[in-house]
Amino acid sequence: MRVEVDFDLCQGHAECQAEAPDWFSVGKGSGAKVRAKRGEVPADQLPAVKDAVKYCPTQALRLVED
Ligand code: SF4
Repeated sequence: MRVEVDFDLCQGHAECQAEAPDWFSVGKGSGAKVRAKRGEVPADQLPAVKDAVKYCPTQALRLVED
């Protein structure tokens, strides 16, 4: 599975980074957007990434099958 980001919805809350810091990073300041790794999420990171998707307050993240 891989992560898709809707940058129109992302508001830089950084909950994703808190849940899965190896996969997401968010800059500081207003207007910051998430940066997510591309490609297949490794199995050992999938639980954290799923939590990030779940807890994103704007539902900007989505897990999709390749
Ligand atoms: S993807 Fe969601 S949790 Fe992550 S920075 Fe954007 S709005 Fe915040």
